Amino acid sequence: MPAPDNNTKLDDVVSCLSAHDPNAMRVEDAQAVIRQFVTPIHAVEKIAIRSALDRVLAADIISPINVPAHDNSAMDGYAVRGIDLTTEDRPFRIIGVAYAGHAYDGPIGAGECVRIMTGAVMPKECDTVIPQELTRDASDSHITIPANAVRAGDNRRLAGEDLAAGSVALPKGRIVRPSDLGLMASLGVAEVAVQRRLRVAFFSTGDELRSVGEPLDEGCVYDSNRYTLYGMLKRLGCDIVDMGVIRDEPEAMKEAFRTACENADAIITSGGVSVGAADYTKQMMAELGDVQFWKLGMRPGRPMAFGRIHSEGKSAYLFGLPGNPVAVMVTFYFFARQALLHMMGATAEQALPLMKVRSAQPIRKRAGRTEFQRGILAVGADGQQEVRITGAQGSGILRSMSEANCIVALEHDRAEIKAGDMVDVILFHGLI
Ligand code: AMP
Ligand code: MG
Repeated sequence: MPAPDNNTKLDDVVSCLSAHDPNAMRVEDAQAVIRQFVTPIHAVEKIAIRSALDRVLAADIISPINVPAHDNSAMDGYAVRGIDLTTEDRPFRIIGVAYAGHAYDGPIGAGECVRIMTGAVMPKECDTVIPQELTRDASDSHITIPANAVRAGDNRRLAGEDLAAGSVALPKGRIVRPSDLGLMASLGVAEVAVQRRLRVAFFSTGDELRSVGEPLDEGCVYDSNRYTLYGMLKRLGCDIVDMGVIRDEPEAMKEAFRTACENADAIITSGGVSVGAADYTKQMMAELGDVQFWKLGMRPGRPMAFGRIHSEGKSAYLFGLPGNPVAVMVTFYFFARQALLHMMGATAEQALPLMKVRSAQPIRKRAGRTEFQRGILAVGADGQQEVRITGAQGSGILRSMSEANCIVALEHDRAEIKAGDMVDVILFHGLI
C-alpha cells in the first residue's frame, strides 16, 4: 500500500482490503483504512515542561547528562573500599562525613570509612556502603562491620544507571505523563517541543434536536452527543470548535461543513449517516470531498461516514458518526480516537489497552459482527476479576455507558459467550 499523502484516494485504500463485504465491513478493516488514510500534522511549539502534561512530544528528549551524575550512596551508613571487607568482623575508623550535596573529598586508606548519607557522592576509591543498621559497636570514631554483612559494590548507585548521557530519555510521539515531567526535570530540561494541539470541529445534525437551555418541544430530544464528544475530545487534549446543532437544510449544512473544514484538522458530526436518514448530511459530505459511507459489521454503530473534505484550499478529515448516543461514543473510541492520536503524532498510545477477563454470565452474541457491550468489571467471589453486562444494551441507552466501567469487546467471528469464557475488556479508566 502506498504511503498516504494528501493525494491518496479513499477508494484506493479501501480496494486494498482483501475480501470486503460492503454490507458488513469488519471493524478491523475500517480501522486499517482510517489508519492508512490519515496523516500526522506537522506543527511544533516549545513550552515549559509543566505545560507539556498530556501533550505529544515532537522530538526525542536526549539526556544531556548522566542520571545520576555521580556514583552515590543508596543508604545512610558508612562508605568503605570493598577490598577492605573480610570474612571476619572488622573495625573501621571513621575519617569524615559525606552529606547529600556536600561530598567528602579526602583520601581514604585501609580500614577507614566515611559516614555517608543517602544521595551523597561516593568518596573516591569507595565502592561499597554498609547500612547504618548493619554496623556494630558504633562510636564517634569507630564502627565494626560484621563478617559477610555486605558484598563489595553493595548499596551504591552508579553514575548513569538511570539514564546515560546521550541516550533517549523519552521518545518522540510520547504523550507526557506525570513521571515524564519529573524525568525531564531530572535532566535539567526546562522546555520541550510538543506537537500543536489538534483542532477538532463538531456539530450535531437532526431536526429533532434541542440544545440544553431550550424548551423540549413535542417529539424532540436534547442533544447529548455534543457533550459526550466534548468530553472525549477534551480528554484527548484537542482544541475544540463546538458548532452546535445544524439544521437539516442544504445551505446551513454546506456552510457548516465549509466553516468546519476551514477551521479544523478534523470534523466530527453525529447523525444523518444511516440508510434511512431523511436529511442532507450525507449529500453534503459527498459533495464536499472524498467520503465513503460504510455499513460496519458492528454493534452499536453500524453506519459511519469517513473521508476528507475540502474547502477554500483547506482540507479536514471527516468522521460522520451515527446519531445514537452510545453508537457515537463507541465509534469515537474505536475509530476516531486512534485516528486523532495518529494525527497528533502520538505513536505509542494508539492501541486500546485490552484486558482478558472471565465473563460472569452468558452473553448473547451473533457471529459476523463485532459487539461492544457495556460492562462492569469487579472482583468475583474467588477474588479474580470478572465482568458483567450492564443490562439493556440498546444503542440509545446512554445510561449504560455511565453505569459501565468498561467495554466488553466481542470479536467478529465469535458467537454466544458462556459464563466463565474469557472476553476482552477495555477499561474506561485510563482510556483517553
Ligand atoms: P440518526 O443517525 O440521525 O438517524 O439518529 C439516530 C438516533 O439518534 C435518533 O433517535 C436520533 O434522535 C438520535 N440522535 C441523533 N443525534 C443525536 C444527538 N446529538 N443527541 C441525542 N440523540 C441524537
Ligand atoms: Mg438524524
